Amino acid sequence: MTKVLEKFSLAGKVALVTGASRGLGRAMAQALGEAGASVALVARGVEATREAAKELAEQGIRTCAVQADVTDSGQVESMVEQVTRELGPIDVLVNNAGISVAGRALETPDSAWREVLATNLDGVWLCSRAVGRQMVERGGGSIVNIGSMSAMIVNQPRWQPPYLASKAAVHQLTKALAAEWAPHGIRVNALAPGYFLTEMSPVDQPEYQPWCVEPAAMKRYGLPEELGPAVVFLASDASSFMTGSVMVIDGGFTLF
Ligand code: NDP
Repeated sequence: MTKVLEKFSLAGKVALVTGASRGLGRAMAQALGEAGASVALVARGVEATREAAKELAEQGIRTCAVQADVTDSGQVESMVEQVTRELGPIDVLVNNAGISVAGRALETPDSAWREVLATNLDGVWLCSRAVGRQMVERGGGSIVNIGSMSAMIVNQPRWQPPYLASKAAVHQLTKALAAEWAPHGIRVNALAPGYFLTEMSPVDQPEYQPWCVEPAAMKRYGLPEELGPAVVFLASDASSFMTGSVMVIDGGFTLF
């Protein structure tokens, strides 16, 4: 392996990915495993998480499946304990678990606001603090938060004000933690995906084309595996001088 490719290696590292039972989280777990990391997969649905972990294990990747709800601080603490026990101390945290509720402001119940903020923002906060405490003690680590281009633009068909607000907050929380933890050797960055085809985002459906595909410079949506190399870059020494950054991966959607 050449020196530059060695910087992307995660051999000997432990990565934890929240929301890894499907979609972008599952694809990023796969990429981190291919880069050499042991990978803990976290989600609420235990069967799907086990299934995703089994798929990694069958490829020779060291892995464990953890059932946890990122909105619950007790479950988050237990998650960190379980991963540390089964795989070792955590070097890489990917805060990916997220939900969205479509609808205009006046049609959005307060319960939806709270649920979205609890998952997308409190989840990042709780997991970052639980894992960050361990990383501070060990003197290093890399945290990657999954934000969104929706933190920067408003795209019409789904509205979803709580989602947009939560993702903007995630971008700024990324910067706050990056500034605070840089002296401890911890880097904190965010990925801001555009439209990717997942269960949350069925952008292959015809009604989504005018809003989600045609406005992108590349005139297509992303596939989950296209996010994998970016998370490996931010997780690894390849990005050793990057912290507090938000990396946009959107096929040129936000160019216009
Ligand atoms: P999916 O709905 O396909 O997957 C979401 C994952 O998060 C599932 O594994 C789900 O499992 C898990 N999850 C949801 N709530 C919780 C919770 N409270 N605790 C633990 N795990 C949870 O979504 P995507 O893969 O599309 O999205 C992943 C992330 O990427 C989200 O943060 C999303 O906002 C962001 N994003 C997605 C884009 C897209 O176009 N797809 C664009 C920009 C950002 P379970 O329900 O079993 O817990």
